[in-house]
Amino acid sequence: MELQIAQDLSKGLLAQHAGFNSLPKATIHDMQVVAHVFPFRVNNYVVDHLIDWGNPADPIFRLTFPQRHMLSDEDFARVEAAMRSGEKARLNSVVTDVRNHLNPHPSGQMTSNVPHFRDGTLLSGVQHKYERTVLFFPRQGQSCHAYCNFCFRWPQFVGDPSLRIETSDIDPLIAYLREHEEIRDVLFTGGDPFIMRSGLLRRYVDALLSANLEHIKSIRFGTKALTYWPYRFTSDDDSTELLECLTSIIKAGKHATIMAHFNHPNELAALPAQEALKRIQNCGAQVRTQTPLLRGINDNAQVLAQLWEEQVRLGCIPYYLFATRDTGAQRFFGVPLAESLALYVEALHGVSRLAATVRGPVMSSDPGKILVQGISEVLGQKVFVLQLLQSRHTEWAGRLFYAQYDPRALWINELKPAFGEKAFFFDL
Ligand SMILES: *Cc1c(COP(=O)(O)O)cnc(C)c1O
Ligand code: SF4
Repeated sequence: MELQIAQDLSKGLLAQHAGFNSLPKATIHDMQVVAHVFPFRVNNYVVDHLIDWGNPADPIFRLTFPQRHMLSDEDFARVEAAMRSGEKARLNSVVTDVRNHLNPHPSGQMTSNVPHFRDGTLLSGVQHKYERTVLFFPRQGQSCHAYCNFCFRWPQFVGDPSLRIETSDIDPLIAYLREHEEIRDVLFTGGDPFIMRSGLLRRYVDALLSANLEHIKSIRFGTKALTYWPYRFTSDDDSTELLECLTSIIKAGKHATIMAHFNHPNELAALPAQEALKRIQNCGAQVRTQTPLLRGINDNAQVLAQLWEEQVRLGCIPYYLFATRDTGAQRFFGVPLAESLALYVEALHGVSRLAATVRGPVMSSDPGKILVQGISEVLGQKVFVLQLLQSRHTEWAGRLFYAQYDPRALWINELKPAFGEKAFFFDL
C-alpha cells in the first residue's frame, strides 16, 4: 500500500525510518527549512527501494529530498529566521516572497499556450503550443506520487490552486479537436495522470476514443509512476483496469505511448519498475523516455550512457535530454549548455546507435523547443549552433540559428545572438 509523506519531514513514515534518522540533525533541519518553499512528497517505495541511505550523495535522495542549496544563502536565512520566530503570518509572507522571485511561471505557461475556440471562448486545462499535439491536464492528475526537486511545475503543487492549469471536463477538448484536424496527439499530463484512479482515467480516455476522431493517431501519458510507484501497473487493486485502458487505445487503432521520466539508472535497476515496464509493453504500448540533465544526479557521461543503454535493453525509446528550466532550483541542478552538449556526445559515443533517438540538450522555452546542435567556428567566431525543433509558429520549425559561445550559459535567456545581430529571429 502506498504510504505518502508530504511537507512535514518529522511526521509519519520518516519519523520511524532508520535511514532517515541516521542523517545528521543539521541536515534534517536544513531540509525542513527548504521544504517550506518547495513542495516535498515521497512515499514508501522511493524511501525503501530507490534510496541507498548509506550513500550521502545518493542520486534519488538528491532528486526528492529538499537540498540546502536549492535556496540561496540569503533566502535560506530569511525562511529559517521566520520559522524560528514562530509567527505564522510572517513565515507565509517570507515564503511567498521567496517563491515569487524563483520565476514560478516560466515560458509564459499561464498565458501564451492557452487555446481558444473559433468563437473566441477559452479552453481551460488544455495547452496547445505545437501544431500536432495538445496537452490535457485532468484535475485529478495534478499531483505526483513523489515530487522531483527540479520540477518546473513546482508552483502547481504548493501555490494558489487558481493558478493551476486543470479541468475535469474532457468534452471541451473533444470539441476543440473537432475544430482542429491538424492535431495528431493528445498528451495527458500533470502532475502525473497515473496518480488518478484507473476508473477516472478510463472515463477520460473512453470519451476521447468514442468521439471517433480519425485524425488523432496517438494518445500519450506523461508520467513518473514507473519509478515512483510501479505497483500502479502491477499490484494496485486497479492496476489491471489501467492496463485495460492502454489496451483499449490500441484496440481503437491508435498508438499509446508512455512518456516516462527516468533521471538515473538506479530507477530502472529496481525490479518492480522492470516488471511494470513489461506489463505496459505487453499491452502493445510504447515507452519513450526523457530526463533533464541534473547536477549531481546524472551529469556524467557514464551515468547517461548506462541510463540510455538500460532503456534500450528494456525496450524503451530514449527521446529527450532536457536542459533544466529557468525556474525554482535551476541554479542548483542546472548544467551549462556547453557542458551538457559535451556530456550528450560523450555518452552516446559509448552506446548502441539504437540510443541515438535521444535528442539533446533541448530547452523547452517560450519560442519553442530549442536544440543545442553543436559548437562551431564561423567567420572566426565561436558559436553555438541552435535549432528551433518546433514552435508555436509552424514556419519557424526547423530553423537553425547561432548564439555567441558562452561556456557558462544555462538557458536561452543567457545567450546572445552571434555575428553582431541585435536579437534572435523569434524576438524580432
Ligand atoms: C514537448 C512538448 C510537446 C510535445 O512535443 P514532441 O516533440 O512532439 O514530443 C507538446 N507541447 C508542449 C508544450 C511541449 O513542451
Ligand atoms: S513526476 Fe513530473 S510533474 Fe511530478 S514532480 Fe516529477 S517532474 Fe514534476
